[in-house]
Amino acid sequence: MKAIRVHQTGGWDALQIEDIATPEPGAGEALVRIEAIGVNFIDIYHRTGLYPQKTPFTLGREAAGVVDSVGDGVNEVRPGDRVAYALTPGAYAEMAVVPASKLVPLPDGVSTSLAAAIMLQGMTAHYLSRATFPIEAGHRVLVHAAAGGVGLLLTQMAKRRGAQVFGTVSTQAKAEAAKGAGIDVVIRYTEQDFEAEVREATSGEGLHAVYDSVGQTTFEKSLRCLRPRGVLALFGQSSGPVPAFDLAKLGAGGSLFITRPTLAHYMLDRDELLERAGDVLGWVERGELDVAIDRELPLAEAAEAHRLLEGRKTSGKLILKP
Ligand code: NDP
Repeated sequence: MKAIRVHQTGGWDALQIEDIATPEPGAGEALVRIEAIGVNFIDIYHRTGLYPQKTPFTLGREAAGVVDSVGDGVNEVRPGDRVAYALTPGAYAEMAVVPASKLVPLPDGVSTSLAAAIMLQGMTAHYLSRATFPIEAGHRVLVHAAAGGVGLLLTQMAKRRGAQVFGTVSTQAKAEAAKGAGIDVVIRYTEQDFEAEVREATSGEGLHAVYDSVGQTTFEKSLRCLRPRGVLALFGQSSGPVPAFDLAKLGAGGSLFITRPTLAHYMLDRDELLERAGDVLGWVERGELDVAIDRELPLAEAAEAHRLLEGRKTSGKLILKP
């Protein structure tokens, strides 16, 4: 089978398409014939080595497809089931072995492309808006990179819960996309000072929460956008990692809270996974959550997908097709 492998971490040329042996499912595992692969920022961190992996490895952590066969003791899924998953390694491939407990059966109305577009980013937006900082009606929140994959979904979920949503974007086209998702106040943070804009729009009161996936270039100002006892959910680092931070600044800034959440800790067991994925897939099936797919590329063009994502050229989700 074909797979995108990394032998030595580095730039886009680290991604090589190769023929490797089709894996066999062991006890508790299923072999999935992949139809659509979700591209995520974490794939870039694995490719560059920022998040170290043992080499060589097959890239990718999100896909959807059809169960081909199962190992001993599997009762969660059966051959022929349409399924999706997130956070299991080896997704940039034609086939992948996945623990059956990580597979989510798909509702009839959700295609495998939509499922691969929504599992990781949709569950992320779900836990951020409902568990990390549970949004209530009347809250004021800021979503950075609001036209991004997580950004567009988080914006819709925050609006659904009755928040006033501020969002940052880099271009006019992305501003339009963010407005389409329901953003109340769009800020072009490459041209405008987002801290000043937030202060002005809230009459100096500040925000209940900031969801910051951009990291290095936004972090300090994000803190200064918060009202007393506000929450900064730092969930990514698209512009680079945040340097060491003096915790005393949280006191001076208004008894602020910072958390650095990751999806793995918000899908701790199968019940939590099925509940979170079930909400998200159900909203997609009923047309209550709009999923923006920026484009679909052949698996062999994985390097181009990375170039687009790192180059801030996408709005919504990138999909690879085996
Ligand atoms: P996005 O679609 O949001 O793409 C990243 C966006 O970040 C860009 O489009 C760009 O938007 C913005 N950005 C700002 N500065 C930079 C920069 N220097 N280089 C590149 N992009 C920049 O990606 P995802 O939705 O896939 O992921 C967003 C972030 O969330 C990532 O950091 C990812 O690792 C993290 N994440 C964390 C999870 C968790 O559980 N903790 C789970 C899923 C994702 P613009 O052009 O508008 O500035």
